Amino acid sequence: MENLTENREKQDAQEGGGSTGGSNGGSTLIIGGKVFGDLAPGGLKKGNPLLADDVLVTAIAADGLVRVTAAESTATCEKARIIHGTSALATAALGRALTAAALLSSQLKNDTDSVCLQINGKGPLGRIVCISDVRARVRGYVANPKAELPLRVSDGKIDVAAGVEKGFLQIIKDLSLKEPYIGTSALVSGEIAEDLTYYFAASEQVPSSVALGVRIGPDPEGKEPFRVEKAGGFIIQLMPGAPDSLIDDLEKRISGLPSVTTLLAAGATVQDIIHDVFKGYSPEIETSHWFGYVCGCSRGRMQAALAAVGRKDLTEIYNDGQGAELCCNFCNKKYFFTTEEIGAMLAQPAPEKEDGEGDPEAHQESSEEQSR
Ligand SMILES: [Zn+2]
Repeated sequence: MENLTENREKQDAQEGGGSTGGSNGGSTLIIGGKVFGDLAPGGLKKGNPLLADDVLVTAIAADGLVRVTAAESTATCEKARIIHGTSALATAALGRALTAAALLSSQLKNDTDSVCLQINGKGPLGRIVCISDVRARVRGYVANPKAELPLRVSDGKIDVAAGVEKGFLQIIKDLSLKEPYIGTSALVSGEIAEDLTYYFAASEQVPSSVALGVRIGPDPEGKEPFRVEKAGGFIIQLMPGAPDSLIDDLEKRISGLPSVTTLLAAGATVQDIIHDVFKGYSPEIETSHWFGYVCGCSRGRMQAALAAVGRKDLTEIYNDGQGAELCCNFCNKKYFFTTEEIGAMLAQPAPEKEDGEGDPEAHQESSEEQSR
């Protein structure tokens, strides 16, 4: 953990404890009426009693023939549960998707890059959307956060597959190029990890093994019906030239492994898990950093979303005289715009980009915000 602590301190120092702010500077985390503190870019401020930051590790093994990204995402998934008030089923599904988005962030390079994972299933949960930036600042939502199903009869587990059902999965990678990269594949199981494994094979032709897990349990304080006890996952990918023997051996090891949440609950760190899986294959940790659930919404961004309805509709809202409220899908924060403010927007029809930060996925969010 030494390197991690060091990295964390560097990160904090760079960010001046959040004073660089950006669009996240004004967010305060309040849980059950108790104020926990400001959100800093990249995660919660140091000293936060939730100790909410999670860890993401990338490594290589077998002389670079295997790449692995692994994460503990417990705090991220618990925060998502609190923000969205999710059922057990939705907590598990959204938590898995958020963990996947964090893992996918390792494929990004530039500060303005982002990745958006969409699970479009026909099941009761509806659409799941999760977004991450290059530093795994993740956020997400599920269309029907209260959807619930009985535990699966065969193994007594939360039936994420039945909650998601059949449909398709889409990954949109904005790599700060002219056009985003969009990959699509069918949902083959609805369990999300298997669907991602299939996606990598079908859409990106990369043999992969994906594990995602969210374990829920009783709230020790007895205030909530349940909470996220442990969450995490990994993506293991084989590079071109990996021999069949390596593939076979890894498959055997992974299938014989307890679930990620079981390993984490037993006290293993993400690094421990990587060293265990790749024992004998000289695993080398390349990067490790903290991450968390951070929504980058702001009044300026919401105003841009409102302006995007077009002049005709905006005039209608203005004439209606009741103002307009927009709710952020990712953090449920509400933004109210008065008739006067809308009038000012109409008088100045070209909205400026709010903070110059760059928001490659803004177009996706805008359409979501309006639909709610
Ligand atoms: Zn938000």
